[in-house]
Amino acid sequence: ARKKIIAGNWKMNMTPSQAVELVNTLKPLVANDAVDVVFCVPAIDIIPAMEAAKGTNIHIGAENMYFEEKGAYTGEISPAMLVDAGVKYVIIGHSERREYFAETDETVNKKVLKAFEHNLTPIICCGETLTQREQGVTIDFVRQQIKIAFLNVTAQQAASAVVAYEPIWAIGTGKVATTEQAQEVCKAIRDCIAEIYDDATAAAIRIQYGGSVSASNASELFAQADIDGGLVGGASLKPDFGQIVNY
Ligand code: 13P
Repeated sequence: ARKKIIAGNWKMNMTPSQAVELVNTLKPLVANDAVDVVFCVPAIDIIPAMEAAKGTNIHIGAENMYFEEKGAYTGEISPAMLVDAGVKYVIIGHSERREYFAETDETVNKKVLKAFEHNLTPIICCGETLTQREQGVTIDFVRQQIKIAFLNVTAQQAASAVVAYEPIWAIGTGKVATTEQAQEVCKAIRDCIAEIYDDATAAAIRIQYGGSVSASNASELFAQADIDGGLVGGASLKPDFGQIVNY
């Protein structure tokens, strides 16, 4: 059985001192060894958050990284920097990065390959817009995102990856996808992985749902056959995250 993975995405919130405070507040609330608990935090918060989380079950992750090793890329964070700081998980290709920072399926693929090269576990984001859902092209669109994200990724690497299905219309809107909608797309993603690789890889990969996950809807979402946890924005900054982790 796949271990559930419940990750917070802090986005551009929390200064370093606030990050320490939040980790300290949440650590007794998220002490659940039955699931993997990850806090993906702003780059500048990684080291202080890591320090505050020492000795707990909390993994500190990153929200982004660059796809080159090192060099003249002002403002970027390299995979080796994340590894050296003790990071294991990194969100790749969040819809906000695609929308505001010009990330594409191709740059997502480069980042995914680079993350694996450094033994980082990518949390690979995908998901459709409201227009795409209304046009009935959701599954085709998400399958295309997945196929490009996994180009040249080996089966062994893919088995260890995390995919986050985040319908854009559900992010930060309070409009959560229905459990049926979320399960349908997460299953389609798993089927797509089975087509690219094989059934064993599809059975191993973990697929999260993200988009207005809250303390009140987490248990129903996480009970779905193909939903292996969540990627949580707003509610990960509050004590509610403890309830989500202990769904
Ligand atoms: P919300 O939980 O705030 O809707 O954000 C979801 C998200 O984008 C997580 O990556």
